[in-house]
Amino acid sequence: MISVEEARRIILSHVKVLGAEKVNLFSALGRILAEDVLSPLNIPPWNNTAMDGFAVRAEDTRGASPESPVILEVIEDLPAGYMARHPVGPRQAIRIMTGAPIPDGADAVVRVEETELIDDHQIKVFVEVEPARDIRMAGEDIKKGAVILEKGSLVRPPDVGLLASIQRSFIAVYQRPVVAILSTGDELVDIDEPLVKGKIVNSNGYSLAAQVLECGGIPVQLGIAKDTKEDLEEKFSQGLEADVLISSGGVSVGDYDFVKQVLKNLGTEMQFWRVAMRPGSPLAFGIMRGKPAFGLPGNPVSAMVTFELFVRPALLKMSGRKKIFRPLLKALAEEDIKTAEGKKHFIRVTLKLKKGRYHASTTGPQGSGILRSMSLSHGLAVVPETQSLVKAGEEVLVIPLNPSFEDRESLSFSLEEETPEAETGSSHAQGHDPGEDCC
Ligand code: AMP
Ligand code: MG
Repeated sequence: MISVEEARRIILSHVKVLGAEKVNLFSALGRILAEDVLSPLNIPPWNNTAMDGFAVRAEDTRGASPESPVILEVIEDLPAGYMARHPVGPRQAIRIMTGAPIPDGADAVVRVEETELIDDHQIKVFVEVEPARDIRMAGEDIKKGAVILEKGSLVRPPDVGLLASIQRSFIAVYQRPVVAILSTGDELVDIDEPLVKGKIVNSNGYSLAAQVLECGGIPVQLGIAKDTKEDLEEKFSQGLEADVLISSGGVSVGDYDFVKQVLKNLGTEMQFWRVAMRPGSPLAFGIMRGKPAFGLPGNPVSAMVTFELFVRPALLKMSGRKKIFRPLLKALAEEDIKTAEGKKHFIRVTLKLKKGRYHASTTGPQGSGILRSMSLSHGLAVVPETQSLVKAGEEVLVIPLNPSFEDRESLSFSLEEETPEAETGSSHAQGHDPGEDCC
């Protein structure tokens, strides 16, 4: 049996980053950049006004005050989107709208509310302004030649906006890994088949496909294989077109657990098949004709937890992602958590913020068949193999499982609601340096 860390090291040493492809801007959302993006231009491209007002020469406003305003001649009106026709000369001003380029000669803006119209051609200015006042400088957002998005980073909505602003309609991103998913077991029926006595629904095929989607991969369902070597061989072979193969079930030591043997028969170089963890101890990994193949355990929680710990980082690495592990959170155990020494435990917990600290409570029974413990959880508390008890009040590290973590009300406050006094908001909560312990 090897440790979780050793298993992960072996897996990651065998997976390679996939090739790049060019996609249009919208398809880039949620993908990983395969190029450093340099800006070919300054943004904004020219100095422009941040306010509606008058473009002036700052020196002309010297000494201006409500009691003794300066009088300037208005020589032009300038809406956004146009260039001024005249330069601003001494004791002159150009009426200017937010976003309009600063005319030559002007070096500051006086806001409308700091002026008064005398007639169409003259204004009173009541304030003294410094040069550069209310001017958005050329390149203050983005400098020409600067790297604005880095290779290996995730494209998010503001990044799509940035790419549009530098007129990039196509962008290089890494390919999404195609992941073939095979469910094994005579007891399984598919989602729309009659649930006759003795059968259960193949839920793993769906939870695993959802996990693949969530980390950016493309799931391909190979369906259900019977517990026979022939059927397993045939169905596994159908997955060879994919970049990664995942099966669930049949990796344990039961009479009908043929997955390891079938993987070997198909030429898989097996790397390991047991990991010192709970849930999820039986877990086979090998390279099948150049493709990583994971034989995940059949129990629904074990399948999902082993996906989270081993398959997810592998898929993120293949997708070109730099950050492949989730940063851990520190939390205080709300109750005693008992575990078996010698195995690393991943306990499903909910998190609550109290006075700026996370508190973790188990979701209830932790059986590896209790899928609802995953559904209820905000994350997985990690209890090291050297420990058999976490006492109430002691600190544990928690792998936050993102979507539920963000949605659950106990962890976040809606802007419309008042912040309860006892719970000071997630910004105060103690995170953990992502560089150190990551899962
Ligand atoms: P196994 O490792 O094949 O003995 O499976 C362990 C447990 O997980 C058994 O109770 C199976 O019925 C269950 N199981 C296996 N595959 C699936 C699946 N695809 N969906 C739901 N439960 C499963
Ligand atoms: Mg089975």
